[in-house]
Amino acid sequence: MHIALVNGVRTPPSPGLRGHCPVCENETIAKCGEQRIWHWAHRGKLHCDPWWERETTWHRHWKNLFPEAWQEQLSRDPSGQKHIADVRTPFGTVLEFQYSAIAPEERRIREGFYGNLLWIVSGARLKTDFPRFEAALKRFTPSPYKDVSILRFPEEYFRKAWLDSSVPVIFDFRGVDAILPASKTKELIWCLLPRQFQRHVAVAAITRSYFVEAITSGHSLMDHLEILERCEALVRKQRQRDEADWNARFIASVRGKRGYYGRG
Ligand SMILES: [Zn+2]
Repeated sequence: MHIALVNGVRTPPSPGLRGHCPVCENETIAKCGEQRIWHWAHRGKLHCDPWWERETTWHRHWKNLFPEAWQEQLSRDPSGQKHIADVRTPFGTVLEFQYSAIAPEERRIREGFYGNLLWIVSGARLKTDFPRFEAALKRFTPSPYKDVSILRFPEEYFRKAWLDSSVPVIFDFRGVDAILPASKTKELIWCLLPRQFQRHVAVAAITRSYFVEAITSGHSLMDHLEILERCEALVRKQRQRDEADWNARFIASVRGKRGYYGRG
């Protein structure tokens, strides 16, 4: 955790400080060593929020793009269960930064819990993530939108766990240590829009600055329902055209044969 309550005030860790966990209210100790990034730890026990993921510099980098007051926000569901959202904006959007793997069931529960959620997923943890995505880039076909592409058979290019998400999933392929932009593909972040259509998905290329600005100003990142609708219509039309082509070729070939054999 980056935030604990010290005399009731949300406070980042600093050496020697003690505070209280905003979720369970137990005592927390500021851990300010050299091995791991500075954080708050529960005294003598594991984190009380089962959804909590050990924070990496990647998490911290992302959270710090947003005001501290929005970070590590307590959320409570109707049954009183409490969770810490990585970032919750005053406009009601929740950002969850996911570095490690997540079970599909837990992913679904979190999506249901937060509702207006965007996943930001590290694509730098597994060695295979980026090469798979680079292969996808070669298969991208254009959509009615400049920055949105359509991809067929997405299961070949994305980790399966993210493919049936009900909310947008944004992949960040830049590693935590990257100082220089390694490639244009890694500089951008890639938004997998929710919902597949006829085994296709829509993928939007977004700049980091656009993302931060949209989230910070409370604008919606994109009208993904409209985008999906138009992409789906395009795929449907293409499929109908392919079928018509195929039928025409088939009829032509049958006629051709008839003509050949008929005359003979
Ligand atoms: Zn706690």
